Amino acid sequence: MKTIVLKFGGTSVGTIDRIKKICKIIAFYKKKRNRVLVVSSAMSGVTNDLVNKSKLISNNFDIAEYDVLVSTGEQVSCALIAGRLKHDGFKSRSWTSWQLPISTEGPHAGARISSVRVKELNNYIKKGGIPIITGFQGINNKLRITTIGRSGSDATAIMLAKFIKADECIIYTDVDGVYTTDPRDYKKARKIKKIFYDEMLEMASLGSKVMQPTSVQDAKLNNIDIKVKSSFISRSGTLITGSKKSFSNQIITGISSTKNDAKITIVGVKDKPGIAASIFRPLSKNLINVDMVVQNISQNGKETDLTFTIKADDLKKTEKLIKKNKSISYKKISFDKNVSKVSIIGVGMITAPGITYRMFQALASKKINILVISTSEIKISVLVSAKNVKKAVAVLHKEFKLD
Ligand code: ADP
Ligand code: ASP
Ligand code: MG
Repeated sequence: MKTIVLKFGGTSVGTIDRIKKICKIIAFYKKKRNRVLVVSSAMSGVTNDLVNKSKLISNNFDIAEYDVLVSTGEQVSCALIAGRLKHDGFKSRSWTSWQLPISTEGPHAGARISSVRVKELNNYIKKGGIPIITGFQGINNKLRITTIGRSGSDATAIMLAKFIKADECIIYTDVDGVYTTDPRDYKKARKIKKIFYDEMLEMASLGSKVMQPTSVQDAKLNNIDIKVKSSFISRSGTLITGSKKSFSNQIITGISSTKNDAKITIVGVKDKPGIAASIFRPLSKNLINVDMVVQNISQNGKETDLTFTIKADDLKKTEKLIKKNKSISYKKISFDKNVSKVSIIGVGMITAPGITYRMFQALASKKINILVISTSEIKISVLVSAKNVKKAVAVLHKEFKLD
């Protein structure tokens, strides 16, 4: 008898009809005599709507209340799933995070699950029940409700799989697996049968929304294989794993791109030790994530230019923080909201020479200008003008034989 965690994303539970359909998927696993646990996201659009409401009521909405507010969507979908399963003749009930509890550590809106108490779940499953558990939320040591970052239900499913010692964790979504690039933006994208945690982690962090990055990190740390499948069509999906058995010898596994980056260039900054730290200190204090950074080599030994990227949502705040930062002086500052990061990812590049050249050459052949570059062992990212993203993904997809 296997223990299986099934996670359903927003579109999979987006309507009453969809909920009825995913209950059939749950029933399928249950009828095969598995121990089944379900984690659900809120119905699609609900969390966004709640976030907007918080912005309408206050431009400085309390972060603890934000978590109370935005976590409510999951309670609705879980109750509906449990209710439908009962209608279909199964034993089922919902659990919100505090009822278990799912304990978290860290700040509101960005907490991380530290433990899940599974005793009650185990008892319930033993009696034939199917527990339906709210994704995305937890409680902290002050018993306040927390959330674990947007798209966090993926991480809830992985952590539940860890604590319940599940044999499988299946992420049901609206695509039938992880593709070489977002199949909605590029029609020639192909489904990847198997992908390493590290590659998936890079793809997720670099903009492939199909899996939330923290969840992949948690899966890697705990060695939990993940299957990504469609709740709309019955097809084999993608396996995310650490196992090296029967992998393809593709050099590049996938291509990711971001939609909401912004670039800041500070011209004529004093070139002396500690300046970069003075610029980034207030940003870090305000939880603004700085991504790519380049500093030009100083021409005169006195001044230099510094360029870095952040999320476009943080641009206004960053601009304010830099302009009121008395510990730095500069000649000019410029902002560009219309930039995107395009990345190629693959463990194969560790051993294959010439990948950087091929990437730059392919982009040049389409006259795409590279603004900033950053690399790691298994990825190369370039910042380009947002209008060139589609073109860049297409030419790289072809260059690395992913079409
Ligand atoms: P869910 O609501 O089920 O969590 P998400 O919207 O978070 O679903 O993720 C699924 C979406 O991820 C797909 O609809 C697809 O457009 C997008 N996506 C981005 N990159 C990829 C990729 N490389 N492979 C598959 N899907 C991707
Ligand atoms: N409902 C939450 C969100 O939209 C969590 C999730 O979907 O995983 O971010
Ligand atoms: Mg998701």
